[in-house]
Amino acid sequence: MPALNLYDTATRSVSQFTPIKPGEVSIYVCGATVQASPHIGHVRSGINFDILRRWLIKSGYQVTFIRNVTDIDDKILDKASHEDVPWWVLTMKYEREFSAAYAGLNVMPPTYEPRATGHITQMIELMQILIDNGSAYAPGNGDVYLEVRKLKRYLTLSGQRIDDLLTAADLDAATSQKRDPRDFALWKAAKPGEPSWPTPWGAGRPGWHLECSAMAHAYLGERFDIHGGGLDLIFPHHENEIAQSEAAGFGFAQRWMHNAWVTQSGEKMSKSLGNSLLVEKILQRVRPIELRWYLGCAHYRSMLEYSEQALDESAIAFRRIEGFLKRAAELLGKTPEALISDAFAVAMNDDLAVPAGLATIAENLRLGNQGITDADLAAISKNASQIRGALEILGCDPFDSNFAGSTSDDLTQLMDGVIKLSLAERAAARDRKDFAASDAIRDGLAALGITIEDTAQGPRWSITEKS
Ligand SMILES: [Zn+2]
Repeated sequence: MPALNLYDTATRSVSQFTPIKPGEVSIYVCGATVQASPHIGHVRSGINFDILRRWLIKSGYQVTFIRNVTDIDDKILDKASHEDVPWWVLTMKYEREFSAAYAGLNVMPPTYEPRATGHITQMIELMQILIDNGSAYAPGNGDVYLEVRKLKRYLTLSGQRIDDLLTAADLDAATSQKRDPRDFALWKAAKPGEPSWPTPWGAGRPGWHLECSAMAHAYLGERFDIHGGGLDLIFPHHENEIAQSEAAGFGFAQRWMHNAWVTQSGEKMSKSLGNSLLVEKILQRVRPIELRWYLGCAHYRSMLEYSEQALDESAIAFRRIEGFLKRAAELLGKTPEALISDAFAVAMNDDLAVPAGLATIAENLRLGNQGITDADLAAISKNASQIRGALEILGCDPFDSNFAGSTSDDLTQLMDGVIKLSLAERAAARDRKDFAASDAIRDGLAALGITIEDTAQGPRWSITEKS
């Protein structure tokens, strides 16, 4: 395996990735809090880490990939009470929407996808360890806190100083049972009317951070290779995950990777703005494969400034690549293989440098189109295969049957056969000067969204692009 170099948020540098167990990679990525419909900022994270996973698999690693579902927290309870539905009705609805969005965008399902509320036992076990070793305390009101002053290290990921941590939380320190205002809740005492689970320290529900430490431990063990999530999770969420896990004696994540945001006018998408950028809405404008291409094309550590114009231009660029691949398949009489070019591998091994990878695709496209002009089947085959290999890593392979609306290889061949049969009927009708019949066939195909183009090699069909 050639060396893979990845950025580590903890060291703020790119370094060679070496897994704990040779040949295997364990990844934990913080998933969604399921309290609203997914917008493109949410799925960008899913796509970025899916590209990492696909590249690791292609590089020969066996990958265990965990992405959790946060199905209990303040926002969920607020919204459920506002909508007057039980919290689990709300979370199931949005969890399904997230799953559908990921699947529609060809994000591979996680190896395991644990829900917070399914792992209360593991959270209680972790709290017991932390209380037994003196890292955490239960003041007796049902809350449990981690005592941050006792940590060997804290805030290393965000590079903050503990004394600078003066937040809104300090203001209610007087009314809480915290020993220090910077201590954070592992567990929150039950409030009237809220869901709760019994623990040795009183009934309550988990603080947000505890679930990820408990579930990473349950599925990946005390130490694992890569922890991922959005940039906004570095503090407090990931700092507090590290604090809990290290205080319990776990080695925890060996490397931290964070994807940047989708921005609008340079700002992280807010919820109100985000509503116009719901995945469902954007998919009325472009196909899923085109949205995936758009979101996956930027480097995962670069902000992606959203605009309709950029989305449209990206979709047009993708259609050019897709058009070449389909034309190549016709000329070759088979779907091109998926091969990784050396240049694309170099780009991906350099901290998943997708923009550099795109330059290799552009060069393949240029040479492949030249091959079509020159009727050079070897050049067409080589370049089409290398493009397909790269698109597979980006999750944008037009021959991938996971894209609903895209056509799978078998289906394309079947359609090709059926359409050619119609075209032969049309040609026969013309030969016998039965223009009514030949027009009826052409119009029938047009009504189905099939465009016929007469070329020197005979008629070609394609699916009419929606304007
Ligand atoms: Zn998390």
